[in-house]
Amino acid sequence: MKQRVFSKLDGMKDEAIALLRTLLSFDSVDTPTSDPDAPHGEAVAGCLAAALNAAKDYGLLTTNLDGEAGLIDSDEGISPKIGMLCHLDVVPAGEGWSHDPFKGEIEDGKLFGRGTSDDKGPFVCALLALAAIRACDVPLKYPIRLIAGTCEETGSADIAHCKKCGVIPPYVFSPDANYPVVNTEKGMARFSVSATLPEDSALSSLSGGEVLNMVPQSAAATLKDGTIIKAEGKSAHASTPELGENAVTSLFEILCAQLQSDPAYGILETARGLHPPHVTDGSPLGIEASDEISGSLTCSLGLARLEDGVLTLSFDVRHPLCTSADEIREKLEARLCSTPFSVTKFQGIAPHHVDENSPFVQSLLSAYTEVTGLEGYCIAIGGGTYVHDIDGGVAFGTCFPNQDCRIHSPDEFIPVEDLILNAKIFAAALLKLQDQTL
Ligand SMILES: [Zn+2]
Repeated sequence: MKQRVFSKLDGMKDEAIALLRTLLSFDSVDTPTSDPDAPHGEAVAGCLAAALNAAKDYGLLTTNLDGEAGLIDSDEGISPKIGMLCHLDVVPAGEGWSHDPFKGEIEDGKLFGRGTSDDKGPFVCALLALAAIRACDVPLKYPIRLIAGTCEETGSADIAHCKKCGVIPPYVFSPDANYPVVNTEKGMARFSVSATLPEDSALSSLSGGEVLNMVPQSAAATLKDGTIIKAEGKSAHASTPELGENAVTSLFEILCAQLQSDPAYGILETARGLHPPHVTDGSPLGIEASDEISGSLTCSLGLARLEDGVLTLSFDVRHPLCTSADEIREKLEARLCSTPFSVTKFQGIAPHHVDENSPFVQSLLSAYTEVTGLEGYCIAIGGGTYVHDIDGGVAFGTCFPNQDCRIHSPDEFIPVEDLILNAKIFAAALLKLQDQTL
């Protein structure tokens, strides 16, 4: 059966490229509107309609769920047990491309365009897998539903809508991250701590970082005599702060060296001590933690601001399964109680974890190994994926280990060969799952 599905897929390469090019032609950045037919804008609605039309042409059943998501089903009338989840919205193309981001040009075996790897390409692969299985009349013990979302890049309100409508199957994989399988996503704690500076401090303003989820690349302080002090660093995602150089921590080093007799020195010295350069495990805040499944806690000081005499530091912490946002808050408050700082904002997001030994995850891993010959294993990440809020969901592909498809960057691409390869991996997984007891 699998061989028949695979030969079918081998003949679908040209239509995969054509469909991907059609989807790429929509600049489908989520643009909220009050139009009930296009809640995320004309381009997203157009892309969703094109995707559903293609599915219909393959004889699959389609539903447009209020413009929030498309449902593509293998069978009518029976509630699907297995789900694949992709999204059709993209981040803005931005500058710096050497290929048209909306055309799908092919060079050296790579197909370029915004969304080729994240996540229109993987959607095409998932659709082809389902279409090939249907074309080969494989009897399905567990019906399959492919869900095409519309606003993953802007907060995944589509998933909330799908959950409200009860349309998400119990076993879902999402090809919107990496292979082999991402089964653990760390929890998150985002908080701010503040202290009021003495009025006679020489420091008049301070600013570092632009968004909380990035390691600050630059920071600057101004003294009341007009002197400007600057620090430069290297940006990185907050889930991997060890890859960056935090400009704010460097700035506090400089300020502590220069303002030793300032009335605010004690506050600056404390600020420096809460996140010294290159210490990204949260230990200076007393919140370090680590476990075997999810690894170590990471801590990034993402924003620093001095406004109206109040110095505020904002942190982005990704924590392993062995601790919780509540525990982190308790430890943090204990650490700060003898300092001028106190917690002024705190938000926690629970971690996500699916058992590696479940028949579901094991089926995905063995399909991956069978088709690619590569080792199958589970990975834990600090970032959140599309399935973070879906119980039992895992991320599965489509970036291979050590492959950089320039997601969210200029010249994003997908190797043309990977279109059919991914479709085979998904098809093999979907077939394997039919033999399990779910
Ligand atoms: Zn994505």
